[in-house]
Amino acid sequence: MKRSADVVIVGGGCMGTSVAYHLARRGMTDVVLLEREKMLGTGSTGRNAGGVRHQFSNDANIRLSIESIALLERFADEVGHPIDFHQDGYLFLLSSEASVETFRGNVALQRALGVDVRWLEGADAAALAPGLNADGILAATFCGRDGIADPNGVTMGFAKTAQALGVTIERDVEVVGITTKGGRVAAVETTRGTIETRTVVNAAGPYARSIGTMAGADVPVDPIRRHIFIAAKGPGQDAMNVPASHIMVIDFDTTFYFHREGAGLLFGMGERHETPTFDTTVQWDFLPQVIDVAVTRMPALADASISHAWAGLYEMSPDGNPILGPADGVDGLFLINGFSGHGFQHSPAAGRILADVITGRDPNFDLTPFAADRFVRRGAAAGERYVV
Ligand SMILES: Cc1cc2nc3c(=O)[nH]c(=O)nc-3n(C[C@H](O)[C@H](O)[C@H](O)COP(=O)(O)OP(=O)(O)OC[C@H]3O[C@@H](n4cnc5c(N)ncnc54)[C@H](O)[C@@H]3O)c2cc1C
Repeated sequence: MKRSADVVIVGGGCMGTSVAYHLARRGMTDVVLLEREKMLGTGSTGRNAGGVRHQFSNDANIRLSIESIALLERFADEVGHPIDFHQDGYLFLLSSEASVETFRGNVALQRALGVDVRWLEGADAAALAPGLNADGILAATFCGRDGIADPNGVTMGFAKTAQALGVTIERDVEVVGITTKGGRVAAVETTRGTIETRTVVNAAGPYARSIGTMAGADVPVDPIRRHIFIAAKGPGQDAMNVPASHIMVIDFDTTFYFHREGAGLLFGMGERHETPTFDTTVQWDFLPQVIDVAVTRMPALADASISHAWAGLYEMSPDGNPILGPADGVDGLFLINGFSGHGFQHSPAAGRILADVITGRDPNFDLTPFAADRFVRRGAAAGERYVV
């Protein structure tokens, strides 16, 4: 393994590989990416629902989406890897007056930034997603350029092209310490020895806090378990009455969501009482709560069978916004953390922005809402409301 590098990236998920790719595109190739697992993309990245949307509640996240989705649209040509991107839209269903009010303001913001979002009545929503029961839906929003992409394709695309440009990727190596001298990063300690470096990127997803602690920086990211279930057609069912397209439907007030997956349906829902944990064991006793909501919104699920399920970790920041840029108080440590359950879709732009910051370019992006010091030096900001 190399004993020194200009930049060491900790973590081989969508964030670490995106930073590696964008650094390499800027000509910085003395870069080592370290992943403790034997494969890349097996953390949160490998467990996510693949959803990609413009519909967020604050300006900065919408801008991340606009840039990221544009790159995902060009991905095969520019990065050189297929990502199975279906832009069949995201449909948010709103069943409380409070949500309707929140979304009205946010649709205006999204439109002001150039995003083509439609405001719909419940009946229009049902027409977009066959099989959906729209009872109790007061309104809905739809953006046809939102969609579903393959997280593994994006991660491997970034990784392979970064490697082709000269970046070193080491798997099966764990970072166990970060040495600082005079308040600046000096070296990374790993299970295979020391790498001297003046620049470290913390791309450790739900484990970001522990990497920060190694360097003496507070990175307030908590791991929160989220489940995904896959429904297949049940015995005697010829076919499930589910949308033929890959439209993503989100019942905002319950956080239940689904999209087509093969011939079946992928669905999930947030657990309101989940506390921080690194345990990714599937809690089957949570399924009945999800099914209660699921069969109301998608009656076809009552006859389906659950073929499998998995759990992964959201990497939650205190306000639902990412932490992107230099760490607070440790020179040479850069953070790309806390994406709070929507990081896959923001990895293209976030990696580009951080690569610009590291190489001393103007990122052309106001990073104030994502700054690491916001939690200690400023009052509570708006944060992100569309955390599902
Ligand atoms: C169930 C679920 C559904 C989701 N759905 C969506 C969605 O639809 N759309 C969306 O945009 N996002 C979604 N997300 C969120 C998204 O998956 C994450 O925001 C994103 O994957 C974070 O990427 P990452 O690279 O930061 O983290 P990870 O993919 O977790 O990568 C971090 C890597 O760091 C490695 N690592 C950690 N510590 C060390 C160490 N000490 N040494 C070396 N390596 C280390 C880990 O092994 C891991 O591979 C979902 C998440 C979950 C759990």
